[in-house]
Amino acid sequence: MEKLICKTCASESMIPVEVQVEGDDLILDGGQQESYFYTCHVCGDNWLSIKETAGDGSCQITFIHQMGMSPLLKRVARVEDPYLAVEEAGSHWSYFMGDDEISEEVWKEKLSRRRRILKSICTN
Ligand SMILES: [Zn+2]
Repeated sequence: MEKLICKTCASESMIPVEVQVEGDDLILDGGQQESYFYTCHVCGDNWLSIKETAGDGSCQITFIHQMGMSPLLKRVARVEDPYLAVEEAGSHWSYFMGDDEISEEVWKEKLSRRRRILKSICTN
């Protein structure tokens, strides 16, 4: 797989690895799951993307950012057409910290704070 630009440290060192995610909340029989774990080999930033496609073609996309010891930052989109669910298309997304739904603003602030910390670790 090609490398992607890391949003935290801006180096071209994000490597997606296909993974199989086990879980109780996988949607719908007859669906498919496609999951990738992205890790930056420079700063250690990482996230998991899970795309679950139901039999009718609608899909749910979940991004999970691990936060060390604190709750996971997670966002979920349910879309009719997976091609609409580009990462920054805001309207489809719900935002969570752990199991609690939080506002997009708070979520983005927490993610950018985490990225600042990772960046300062790797540039020092
Ligand atoms: Zn990085």
